[in-house]
Amino acid sequence: MIFRQFFEPISSTYSYLIADKGDTVIIDPVKEDTDKYIQIIRELDLKLIISIDTHVHADHITASGRLNTLTDCDIVMGQETAAEFVTHRVKENDTLAVGSIKIKALYTPGHTDDSYSFRMNDRVFTGDTLLIRSTGRTDFQNGNPIHQYDSIFNKLLKLPDATLIYPAHDYRGWTVSTIAEEKRHNPRLQVNSEADYVAQMNALKLAHPKQMDVAVPANLKCGK
Ligand code: FE
Repeated sequence: MIFRQFFEPISSTYSYLIADKGDTVIIDPVKEDTDKYIQIIRELDLKLIISIDTHVHADHITASGRLNTLTDCDIVMGQETAAEFVTHRVKENDTLAVGSIKIKALYTPGHTDDSYSFRMNDRVFTGDTLLIRSTGRTDFQNGNPIHQYDSIFNKLLKLPDATLIYPAHDYRGWTVSTIAEEKRHNPRLQVNSEADYVAQMNALKLAHPKQMDVAVPANLKCGK
């Protein structure tokens, strides 16, 4: 298996490339970095078969549309998404095959109503649902802190403690965590009830992302 983590500094986005037996999937690619993905796919003799977006992003434009045009790869998102040009919609527990690797879709709404996480062997790609020592905001794009509490506490934190967490963003340079680590040390998860979690999220009062007015409409067309 080939596994690569890419970082896009303007939106602090992590994208992931996973390849097995030549088949390749990219998770949450950023439009500005399309050439970089194409370069590595070419240099390593890989074939891009799937580009996944964990949700409609508000802070950067996805490369999925460009990658689909250039390589004819599938664009995968959850069935709840309003995005056009998605070629394959997944629902809870659907699996995607990449070589001999199986990637399983977990519906984890809360940051947005179309947020999915994707689990593979020893790791889970959590999008903006569960971040390292933080969680994704829930105050726009049909975000909902009650749904996020359920997604995190009743789904993601039920995965084995050693499961590696790879989020879609990090603003402090953390690159990977584990379920056990986040249970113990993520400050947003140190709550006693769903109500406490919701109150905490509703008190955040964050500014909207700079690129939001451009990114959301573009991503509703997969960046095409
Ligand atoms: Fe997001």
